[in-house]
Amino acid sequence: MSKLYAVGLGPGNEEFMTGEAKNALAAADLICGYTVYVDLVKPLFPEKEYFTTAMKKEIDRCRFALEKAAEGKNVAMVCSGDSGVYGMAGLLIQLAPEYKDVEVVVVCGVTAAISGSAVLGAPLGHDFCTVSLSDLLTPWEVIEKRLEGAAMGDFNICLYNPRSHKRVTHLNRACEIMMKYKSPDTVCGWVKNIGRDGQEAHITTLDKLADEPIDMFTTVFIGSANTKVYGNQIVTPRGYEKRLDK
Ligand code: SAH
Repeated sequence: MSKLYAVGLGPGNEEFMTGEAKNALAAADLICGYTVYVDLVKPLFPEKEYFTTAMKKEIDRCRFALEKAAEGKNVAMVCSGDSGVYGMAGLLIQLAPEYKDVEVVVVCGVTAAISGSAVLGAPLGHDFCTVSLSDLLTPWEVIEKRLEGAAMGDFNICLYNPRSHKRVTHLNRACEIMMKYKSPDTVCGWVKNIGRDGQEAHITTLDKLADEPIDMFTTVFIGSANTKVYGNQIVTPRGYEKRLDK
């Protein structure tokens, strides 16, 4: 059985990669992925064979990786963050039965919600959920329904794919839905280019969030009713402070 590793690289530079991710890359004969992520690992393993594809060629990229694994090579498919969170690990597992003797091994990575949360402090100290605002593969009505549910439940909400050149108003609409249930002064934050050159973070409130310079390289954090600002950090308390006086 040859192995096809679905490897999450974490948000950016080498220090965010897990040891398991590095071991999987070291074990691979061929490393595949979107150009930007392949360029991140090339300097670490210059002797490997590489295959890159453009952004929207996910199915071709997965089939190529599966074909090479079926030919007997150990292959690594690299993704940013975690390969199973809005990534390609699932598609690889779904397609694998069409290929002979290929085992898909998922190698976890630090997803943007977690790495971005650390930059802001501890905004995810209590129940949270993630919602992607990309309607490329998910109908917008479904996204709105999930935003409603998450806002109604007073979750901390991480928004992935918050805005792109083509999806300019999705974040504005998401904020409108949030404000049906959450106060306009709810603490929010965003982090751009987490773990990469040009990392930038900012704390704001829900009523101002849609005016911020948020793009597709940004992860957005919307607080719960309990989320607070401490200096330049955000905290959603778990509740330990209730025990402090006892
Ligand atoms: N598999 C990835 C998510 C891919 S969806 C993961 O687990 O993190 C792409 C979205 O993820 C981006 O639009 C952005 O919202 C978020 N994202 C991924 N990497 C990021 C980074 N380094 N900095 C900020 N946001 C990031």
